[in-house]
Amino acid sequence: MGECIFCRIAGGDLPADVVYFDDEIVAFHDRSPRAPVHILVIPRRHIDSLGAAAVSDRPLLGRLLQVAAEVAHAAGIGASGFRVVTNTGAGAGQSVAHLHLHVLGGRQLGWPPG
Ligand code: AMP
Repeated sequence: MGECIFCRIAGGDLPADVVYFDDEIVAFHDRSPRAPVHILVIPRRHIDSLGAAAVSDRPLLGRLLQVAAEVAHAAGIGASGFRVVTNTGAGAGQSVAHLHLHVLGGRQLGWPPG
């Protein structure tokens, strides 16, 4: 998966504005933010999308959500409110084929999303 840009970020081969990392997960600022706070939370291990996650990935998926909340709080949007989104497949707007959670906040977010 050497061509995957998020694998390259997780491996330290591509620079990113990292706000959190551990042995399984990296979080970094989105380079084209759609809100005042827009952070991406990814597993280090390549998984194409949420739709490609396996039953054995359940603990990792839980950790990704918990880290999403943690980085939201650290970014100062824990109290005002934040949204966690994962686009899965082209029809949902997924442009990078490596599972990632968008953490968005810092402004009033519309619903439903477009
Ligand atoms: P999605 O369209 O849901 O697959 O989201 C992919 C996100 O990755 C978009 O919001 C992009 O702005 C973001 N993105 C793509 N390349 C980079 C990068 N090198 N560093 C940070 N964010 C990126």
